Amino acid sequence: PCTDFDKAYFHSYAHLSIHEEMIKDRLRTETYRSAIMQHQDYIKDKVVVDVGCGTGILSIFCAQAGAKRVYAVDASDIAAQASEVVKANNLSETVIVLHGRVEDVEINEEVDVIISEWMGYMLMYESMLGSVITARDRWLKPGGLILPSIATLYMAPVTHPDRYGESIDFWRNVYGIDMSPLVPLAKQCAFEEPSVETISGENVLTWPHVVKLVDCYTVTNQELESITTKFNFQSMLRAPFHGFAFWFDVEFIGPGTFSAYSDSPPQQYSNPTIEGSQRTKRANPNKALILSTAPEDPPTHWEQTLIYFYEPIEVEQDQHIEGSVTLSQSRENCRFINIHLEYTSGGRSFVKESVLR
Ligand code: SAH
Repeated sequence: PCTDFDKAYFHSYAHLSIHEEMIKDRLRTETYRSAIMQHQDYIKDKVVVDVGCGTGILSIFCAQAGAKRVYAVDASDIAAQASEVVKANNLSETVIVLHGRVEDVEINEEVDVIISEWMGYMLMYESMLGSVITARDRWLKPGGLILPSIATLYMAPVTHPDRYGESIDFWRNVYGIDMSPLVPLAKQCAFEEPSVETISGENVLTWPHVVKLVDCYTVTNQELESITTKFNFQSMLRAPFHGFAFWFDVEFIGPGTFSAYSDSPPQQYSNPTIEGSQRTKRANPNKALILSTAPEDPPTHWEQTLIYFYEPIEVEQDQHIEGSVTLSQSRENCRFINIHLEYTSGGRSFVKESVLR
């Protein structure tokens, strides 16, 4: 579906810096490695496809876990580098690098395992999950394993006076000069579009809301074209409400364990009375590995995605913030996301449209 824009997209992955950033994100890379090792009994002697192998790192982890064969697929020119890395590690017998799109390459056998690191900012940016779905539907054996298996996108209202001050109030007094005429432009430039930045748990005003729970075993491409959800938050604090934050986590569980879980989603926020870093931890009945990009967890290269308002809304403790959000693939470029937000608080209603590009 994204073919028109693929050339530029895959070109961006030919540069090493993007892979370096991902690999140096230790939380990301080590959680993947731990997940592969946790599922080693399953992966051993099996056939794996790595959707978007990049430098080949996840394929090599799978080979180290005892996979019989790993198809490492990437449409970017980085695939040539992956081949060299595989050779240097004497794994050419096991890891077969295929330079092409998963939508186009041929694999003449069924696979037992799909591994992929497909998550973009706000989970859905880049729309790469669609390619994982394609790989699943083309090659995965019934009962096969997909890592990660569940992805959850969250949102919550945030307060961030420091950020607002730096970008807006800054102009009120610049070396003693009143530059406040620039304030409207500053608001537009700083807050018109979503911004990827790291906030902390202290910026978050409420329990998060689940925007979308994705079961990688069953999700369809159609389901991802447009996602709409209604929210009703209740602020835990009296504070200026500056915007909404979005983040995600992914879980690495087998196909069998999922059915028990899927009967009772998403009751993840276990105990509202627990303070601080515990307060947004989800219940984890399967003891699954979770890669989280939440504000209260250690930072990752995904950070969080923020949508700020031009004007903060002063909310009282317990005040409701109601509304809805729709995320859809942009018509301008289906790898971009349109975000349509409607929200009401204290009797006033607002609409905000933005594009993550
Ligand atoms: N697995 C590597 C790289 C992840 S980045 C790691 O974990 O470090 C995602 C990679 O997927 C990029 O290299 C990109 O070129 C590739 N990719 C995205 N969509 C693809 C598709 N449809 N077919 C093949 N490769 C794809």
